[in-house]
Parts: sequence; C-alpha cells; structure tokens
Amino acid sequence: MKQSMTFIPTLREDPKEAEISSHKFMLRAGYIKQVAAGVYAYLPLALRSLKKVETIIREELDKIGCAELLMPALQPAELWQESGRWNQYGDTLMRMKDRHDRDFALGPTHEEVITYLVRDVLNSYKKLPVSLYQIQTKFRDELRPRFGLMRGREFVMKDAYSFHDSYESLNKTYNDFYQAYTNIFTRCGLHFRAVQADSGNIGGSESCEFMALTEVGEDTIVYSDSSDFAANIEVYNLPEGAPSPDGKGTIRHAKGIEVGHIFKLGTKYSSAMKAQFKDENNNLKDIIMGCYGIGVSRVLMAVIEQNHDDNGIIWPKALAPYDVHVIIIDTKNEKQVQTANYLEDLLTKNNYEVLVDDRNERPGVKFVESDLIGLPVRITLGRSLEQGLVEVKFRNSQDKVEIKLEDLLTYLKNNY
Ligand code: ATP
Ligand code: MG
Repeated sequence: MKQSMTFIPTLREDPKEAEISSHKFMLRAGYIKQVAAGVYAYLPLALRSLKKVETIIREELDKIGCAELLMPALQPAELWQESGRWNQYGDTLMRMKDRHDRDFALGPTHEEVITYLVRDVLNSYKKLPVSLYQIQTKFRDELRPRFGLMRGREFVMKDAYSFHDSYESLNKTYNDFYQAYTNIFTRCGLHFRAVQADSGNIGGSESCEFMALTEVGEDTIVYSDSSDFAANIEVYNLPEGAPSPDGKGTIRHAKGIEVGHIFKLGTKYSSAMKAQFKDENNNLKDIIMGCYGIGVSRVLMAVIEQNHDDNGIIWPKALAPYDVHVIIIDTKNEKQVQTANYLEDLLTKNNYEVLVDDRNERPGVKFVESDLIGLPVRITLGRSLEQGLVEVKFRNSQDKVEIKLEDLLTYLKNNY
C-alpha cells in the first residue's frame, strides 16, 4: 500500500486530551479519531491491527469448538425486562425508542439475546454442551469514557456464551476458555496475569479476569510474591505486606487493565428467562451457563501501552498493521521509486505486508512519522541505492545496517 493512497492523519503535537501513551500515540500516529466522547473511528491502520486481534481470537476459539454467530446490537426492552436488568442496569444502558414508542437498548452485552436464541432449542441434555461467540460493537454509556479505546462508549467486544447440563460440563468449558484466553493474549504479545475476580453486574459465581499489567491500569491486583495467588482487590482487599490468604508469601500490588473476563454464570439467566432442558430422566432443568468476554479494541491499547518508547509505537509482529515500512527519501529519484515498487511486489509475494512512504515530504518528517506508526521493519531507499544498498532498521533497536538489495529478502527471513 502506498502511503499517499491510504489515510493516516498524523498530528504534530501531543493531543491535550490524551493522558496515557497508548491514547496519545494512537491519535498522533493517525490510528483513531474521536467522533464524540468515547466514540472513535478506527482509521485504516487501526482496523488492520484490530482485524489481527480478531483473527487470533477466531483461531483459538475454533480450536475449543466454539462457533461464531452474530447477534443484533439493537435489542428489545422485553428481553431485558424478562431478565430483570432493564431496571437494574441503570444509565450505562443506551436506551432508545422506535417510531411506535417501543423501548430498545443498544447491547452492552448479550446474555438476554443469546438466552432467547437458545431457549426451546437446546431443550435436551442430548443437545448440550454448546458454546457460541460473536465479535461485535458494544454500547455502554460509561460515566467517564476515557483513555481512547480503553474505556469507550462504543467498543468492540468478543463475547461468548456456553450452555451445559451439569457443572462438570461447565467447568470443563470454563477451563478450555481459560486456556484459549491464555493463548490469545500470549499471541497478542501481552504481558498479563489471570486473577480471581468479582462477578459484578452480570451475576454468577466463579470468575477470572485477564489483566494486562501496566502502570496506567484502572484495576489493582493483589498477588503473592511466592505463590500463584492473584486477585482483583475488589475480591480481597489486602494491603501490601499482608500475609497471602493461601498461607504462602506476602501480598504485593500491581496495576492492570482488564482485557478479558470469564464467568461461571450458573442459571441466573436461564431461570429468569425459562431456558430449560430435559435431563436423562425427563426432568426439566434450567440450563447452566458460562460467559466469556474480551475487550478487542481495548487489547490494542493495552499492547501499545506495553510496547512504545518516547517516539511512538513499537508493534509486536503479530499485531502490526504492516510488517515493513519502505521509505523513499527522494520521490523525484526514479531509481528509488522503482525500487520501492519492486520491493513492495517482492515482499508482498513473500507474505510480508508493506507500507511505502511515497509522499513528497522531507526525510526528517518521514522518519519521525515512521517511528510514531511503529511498524517492526523500516527499509530506507536513499543515496546508497546507487551502490545497490538499502538501509534496514528494526523499530525495537537503534542499529541500522546496509544490505545489498539482492540479499534483502534472505536478511529479512533470517532476522524478522
Ligand atoms: P470494566 O470493569 O473495565 O468496566 P467490565 O467488567 O464492565 O469492564 P465486561 O462486562 O466484563 O466489562 O466486558 C468484557 C470485556 O470488555 C472487559 O474485560 C473489557 O476488556 C472490555 N470492556 C468493558 N467495557 C469497556 C469499555 N467501556 N471500553 C472498552 N472495552 C471495554
Ligand atoms: Mg469484567
């Protein structure tokens, strides 16, 4: 892709509203643009990275036998009245009326809709267990939307729901999700920790949050310095230095961003909404449920929060919008332009994703913006191209090397 043809509206100055690095760089590097408080457009670069997170999620959920569907964002009030949450959910629910004065909400989560979809269908133990997920835009009228995609009023979530005839079956699926989430966040390049959590607004019993560890996290994690005990401070309000509740070691605190949450819901929604199945003895029972969320757009922010320097983003390979940034120093130089086209072709054929800075800008501007955007590999086509040389620099290192054009592909294969 030629940079002149895509849309990357970079900013010279730090935007005043950005309090944390990930938000600042996403705005400055032209990844996102605010449309209203907590409402953002994903510009071309952000959308490419977002899709990579989604692909990783799809691959890992496919492995545990979870099937994808897509539910409506627009939800009738009746379903929320059945579950009791039309009144409980409060002002965070985005409410609206249609032309017939009927009440609707824009979905902040989908327990009601999914329970409606499966009830009377998953009506026998023979049809259970089943797990379903979707990747969809969610709406929450957050009291304080902030930090860009971190706490938006409109954001992308992966939500999954599982249905069971027994708690053993729920436990097995819950553990599958735990493993899938561990794989997903590891593949995204996140430094994270799974912690015991409070079940909050959704209700239910056991739950676990996946926390990306960063100083700017809104959540506090209490953990033992000598065992794997870790919990959200909402569950165990323990000061630093207290003995760990498992009897091993001393409590420490860390800050985290919740990127995922898995719950054992139990029968809260199935009993309220009469989603029942017949067991082996023909007895009617409430379906046992689990639910599992990932803040897909929030993952992008968390990854940037953990991977940047003073000059911009440093993308891990898995989520970078492109692998390689080819910089043409002088766009009036035929050879540089032709070589850029040649490299774009060659690298693309070899499964690298390439962005070519073909703009008529000063080299200084191009380098600054290249660092801001943060693609893993930068290839510069400048004066030494006359001697058949190109400069290669990795975003996560200061070193630059000059490589013969004909050796470039091998060099990349060995080093990236
Ligand atoms: P939080 O405590 O951060 O408000 P939550 O516990 O209400 O989140 P869940 O209902 O568990 O959120 O939603 C699943 C996931 O969606 C969360 O783990 C989080 O990563 C993400 N998420 C929740 N609210 C937002 C938001 N306003 N903006 C972006 N992502 C969000
Ligand atoms: Mg949560």
